[in-house]
Parts: sequence; C-alpha cells; structure tokens
Amino acid sequence: MSITVRVPAKVNVQLAVGAPRPDGYHDLANVFLAVGLYDTVTATPADGLRLTVTGPDAAQVPLDGSNLAARAALALAERAGRTADVHLHIAKDIPVAGGMAGGSADAAAALVACDALWGLATPREVLLSICADLGSDVPFSLVGEAALGTGRGEKLEPLQVGGTFHWVFAAADGGLSTPAVYREFDRLCEGREVPAPTAAPALLAALRDGDPHALAATVDNDLQAAALSLNPALAATLAAGTEAGALAALVSGSGPTTAFLAE
Ligand code: ATP
Repeated sequence: MSITVRVPAKVNVQLAVGAPRPDGYHDLANVFLAVGLYDTVTATPADGLRLTVTGPDAAQVPLDGSNLAARAALALAERAGRTADVHLHIAKDIPVAGGMAGGSADAAAALVACDALWGLATPREVLLSICADLGSDVPFSLVGEAALGTGRGEKLEPLQVGGTFHWVFAAADGGLSTPAVYREFDRLCEGREVPAPTAAPALLAALRDGDPHALAATVDNDLQAAALSLNPALAATLAAGTEAGALAALVSGSGPTTAFLAE
C-alpha cells in the first residue's frame, strides 16, 4: 500500500514584516495564497526512513535528516511512539529555495501521508502544532487555500477568496536563503522605526471580491527590497513582467522567484 499527497506552493500577496523579536523571529502579517504548482509526496512502507526526490531541482534537495519531509515523518513517528519506517518519494515541481514554501509543502504532505499510512488519525490541531515546530510556513502548507498568518506566520486565520487569480512565476538561477533575506531586511531597516505588521483591509477586500485589479493595487512584500539588494538582477525580471502586461509584479516571499498577476 502507498499513500500519495499532492501539495501546492504558495505566494504571499502581502508580507508585512515587523522589527526583530528577542527570539530572533519577526512578527508578520502574511497573506498566503496557495497556487496551482504542486509537489507530490508518496509514502510507502519500508525498513527505516528512506528518501528519494525527482524533478528539475532534485539535485538541490538534501536527502539526509535535514530534509523537511524526513523531519516531519520523524516528528510524527516520535509523537506516535513508533519508528519512521517509510520510504518518502518527493516528485518536485516547486522551485527549491524559491520563496514558494517548497520544503514546507513537502513537510506538510509527508505528515498527512504518514498519518494515513500509519493509521494514526492524528487530530488536526496536533498536526498543526507539529507543522509550526518544523517551520513558520509549514502550517499554511497543511491548510492551503488562502490564509492570514500572524505571529511568525504560523497563527492562521482562513480568508475568503471570491474568484480565481492567474499568476505567472519566473524561477531564478540560484536560491536565496530566507534567514539571509531577513538579515538584509534588518540591515536595511537599521535606525528606522519598523511599524507593527498589519494586513491591509483593501487587500483582504480585493481577495474577497476576486478582483485582480484591486489585488494588483494592494500587493506588498516588505522583503522585496532585501531580496533585490541580495540579487539585483531580479529588478530586470520584475520590469520585464510589467512590460509584458502584468497587473502586478512582486518577489514571492523571500525570493528569488518573482510573481506576476495576470488579467
Ligand atoms: P519559504 O518560501 O518557506 O521561505 P523556500 O521556498 O524559499 O521557503 P525551500 O524550497 O523550502 O525554500 O528550501 C529552503 C532550503 O531548505 C533548501 O535550500 C534546502 O537545502 C532545504 N530543504 C529541506 N527540505 C527540503 C525539501 N523537501 N525541499 C526543498 N528544500 C528542502
């Protein structure tokens, strides 16, 4: 028997970032949208934990215990008091280190797949708390659709979306490390008062109305300047998308993937 779980990537249509907290994390107002670009994770019984990855970026995915899907399987097994005897196969279409929560997606998918394979029926709140321990974006990958994340992004509130938005994504050569982008954000903000992050009411209304023009006028990513500072070539990609007629062009999360909202 095997269980296959398909899990979407995300784009942040708003990523408001506050000042660093004493624990090093930043408070966020993070508006996540799941997008139609997927990884699939297949869990099959095995002796011990085994991991394989296929897809265009497979060579960049770690196959050791640092893989987020492996960490998810181990965390669930530990909680259930069993061994993680599973072969996880990741068929990867989400760009690696692209700001589209690819690793987080695999972690959420591995949790759901292992939970079903092992017949655990773990309550949703417990799965969500394992997700939050694995990383700030993992809880959203479990719930999908659209949500506002607060705290470091892990406290989720579902959002209404009144239509379908069409996106074009441009993958970039090389990745950007999320911690490095936050460090650059902190550097760029030095000596400035950073306001507390809040979700923009006009953006939430645009999502509710399914109105791409209103959404285009309100998308906002506080990490964009930091991502552009670390990878200046992204500015030309954003400009090319705008010239090609995108309603909005922005860096996805911590980048370097860029996202273009289409009519
Ligand atoms: P986010 O949008 O959540 O900031 P990201 O999309 O920028 O994340 P990921 O693709 O999740 O970045 O990968 C970040 C790093 O995590 C990679 O460089 C890789 O070393 C490591 N990693 C661990 N597990 C995975 C996985 N299953 N898939 C991809 N990368 C993984």
